[in-house]
Amino acid sequence: MRLVKLTAVALLGCSIPATAQAPDFSKVQIKAEVVAPGVAVLYGAGGNIGLSYGEDGSVLIDDQFAPLTDKIVAAVAGLGAKPVKYLVNTHWHFDHTGGNENLGKAGVTIFAHENVRVRMLAGSASVPPASPTALPVVTYQDGVSFHLNGDRIDAIGTDGGHTDGDTALYWRKANVLHTGDLMMNGAGFPFVDTNSGGNVLHLLHSLDHLIKVTNPQTKVIPGHGPVGTQADLIAWREMIAGAVDQIRQRKAKGQTLEAVLADNPLKPMEKPKAFISADAFVKAIWASLDASGAKPHKH
Ligand SMILES: [Zn+2]
Repeated sequence: MRLVKLTAVALLGCSIPATAQAPDFSKVQIKAEVVAPGVAVLYGAGGNIGLSYGEDGSVLIDDQFAPLTDKIVAAVAGLGAKPVKYLVNTHWHFDHTGGNENLGKAGVTIFAHENVRVRMLAGSASVPPASPTALPVVTYQDGVSFHLNGDRIDAIGTDGGHTDGDTALYWRKANVLHTGDLMMNGAGFPFVDTNSGGNVLHLLHSLDHLIKVTNPQTKVIPGHGPVGTQADLIAWREMIAGAVDQIRQRKAKGQTLEAVLADNPLKPMEKPKAFISADAFVKAIWASLDASGAKPHKH
């Protein structure tokens, strides 16, 4: 779980050293960007927040950190949106669920994949168990659909991959996809949290499904990074698949993990100051290949 912590801290912003526990939340500003009528993304610190707003009320997708809740609520109001009625967590990581307790106390109904509730209840070595008001109240495996604000928003319970409880959301009319951390735009390698049931093969299955759901006009809100397109989603999937193929071939030839790490075949693809190093990604792929077949694929 140490990797989770360091990675999430690293994702907060380039200026924050890995040793920092948290950013100075008093200095964080929440920036809203309207991506389609009634759909916005809110940037601050932590995972990108999605928002559906309109005559029926607001649906928030993820909520970053507890000290930011007031600013997030103010940013929602700043768009002329009604108060938040529902919240969907794309997965359990603390930079996506930190505001749950505040919003739960305010009467917001929280939705998530059932494994989000399981992991939040249990906590981990570095994350304490969540308080009851922070927990999802409505859980699902395959997904659930919201019929409001003139659109249908499908919360898709994917095959996971980043964790074992990843949800992506697709606005059918607005043609917007929120991927959660199944995609991090411009981040280099993906973060496969094997301590939270993540698996790179499941990630590829989930991405294949999301590519099928979208089209070239779809606006794609990633878990971190700027809004992208289906082409970005496809390129991300191809990069991951290429890396997996390289490691799989070496494993099939009988190379050990130590030998693969010594060769460092993914090093040329590594981005400077990347959140996930080539070594870390090789290890995650290796663990995923070892665990393959552990979970049936839904899609
Ligand atoms: Zn995450």
